[in-house]
Amino acid sequence: MDNTAIIETVRGWVAASKRIVVLTGAGISTDSGIPDFRGPQGVWTRNPQAEKQSTLQHYLADVEVRQAAWRGRLSHPAWTAQPNAGHRALVALESRGLLHALITQNIDELHQIAGNGADKVIEVHGTIRRVMCWQCRRRWPMPEVLERVRAGETDPHCPECGGILKSDTISFGQALVPEVIDRAFTVAGEADLMLAIGSTLQVQPVAGVVPIARRAGAKIVIVNAEPTACDPIADAVLRGPIGEILPAICGG
Ligand code: NAD
Repeated sequence: MDNTAIIETVRGWVAASKRIVVLTGAGISTDSGIPDFRGPQGVWTRNPQAEKQSTLQHYLADVEVRQAAWRGRLSHPAWTAQPNAGHRALVALESRGLLHALITQNIDELHQIAGNGADKVIEVHGTIRRVMCWQCRRRWPMPEVLERVRAGETDPHCPECGGILKSDTISFGQALVPEVIDRAFTVAGEADLMLAIGSTLQVQPVAGVVPIARRAGAKIVIVNAEPTACDPIADAVLRGPIGEILPAICGG
């Protein structure tokens, strides 16, 4: 079957569903100018050293890793990125009353900025728009600390306790927030259709929501430019640009 025929089939499944659960990864935001990690133009594909900045153990141990991370945060494309057609298609899905929940691995908040309800979005890997103190666990908006970096601090510390600061995102080697990942697993088990979009589905445990939905009887649809770890258990795999495919399958 070519994509056109699969799109028609999936449109029908979408229209017939009542509890669609969506899982998004970095691939939905590349059209907004935020590179993914593992795609052909991904941050890690181009610079394997960058992976260290996302690894908790290196971040806490090495001031140079933190300084590089702060420089990266200052110039992060999320600050100027706007939602794209893929994000807007998921807002349309919610407007049609079909969206049960939107689990995202992304840290850019573009789903909420596009117009998905904050109550629908489950951010399993946190958000770059907040900062956290690793020591006292205080959290507050990121721009305040970026201002300090702009003013010359290379490794800002907590103004309250002097602890190491990081973005309120889940680094590799860092535990997930139990209530958040549990909610993702719960909604996955309630889905009648799961759309997994723009993710290689390699990062665990979040990728586990796909087999959970499958076992609960949901149809599984994967939209991604490259093969994913869950293609073998999908009912439909759409390989191609998210910005074209999602509006075609989610529109009314
Ligand atoms: P990934 O980098 O492992 O995979 C992204 C996939 O999307 C790739 O297979 C790529 O080919 C595909 N893709 C990219 N653009 C596409 C497009 N326009 N159309 C179709 N397919 C496209 O992403 P992941 O599985 O989400 O894992 C990366 C981790 O890094 C996540 O845990 C996430 O937290 C984090 N991350 C987030 C952002 C963000 O917030 N925007 C960006 C980079 C990384």
